[in-house]
Amino acid sequence: MAQELTGQVFRWLTVTGKTERKVSNSPVWECRCRCGNTVYVPGSALLRGNTGCCVQCMDTLAQIRRTKDPVGTSYGKVTVMHATGESRSRSPLYLLQ
Ligand SMILES: [Zn+2]
Repeated sequence: MAQELTGQVFRWLTVTGKTERKVSNSPVWECRCRCGNTVYVPGSALLRGNTGCCVQCMDTLAQIRRTKDPVGTSYGKVTVMHATGESRSRSPLYLLQ
């Protein structure tokens, strides 16, 4: 599979380059998370939407989900700005910065 993902954006991840590594035959890509962390993700996980941010941001998002009114709160490098509506699953969506 000679897929070129460099420069593509998958939610919070921007693909910065390909590595020589492979996970179950899928090349592993070097990605930069919006928080600045570098993560290595197999292309299959990116394309399926399994991975959209680094582990640290996943923790942050889980924390935000557990908070009743997180607007104005900072979690590490992410600040919850304001609610932007509801997702299809009826959970609130927030603008993060
Ligand atoms: Zn991150």
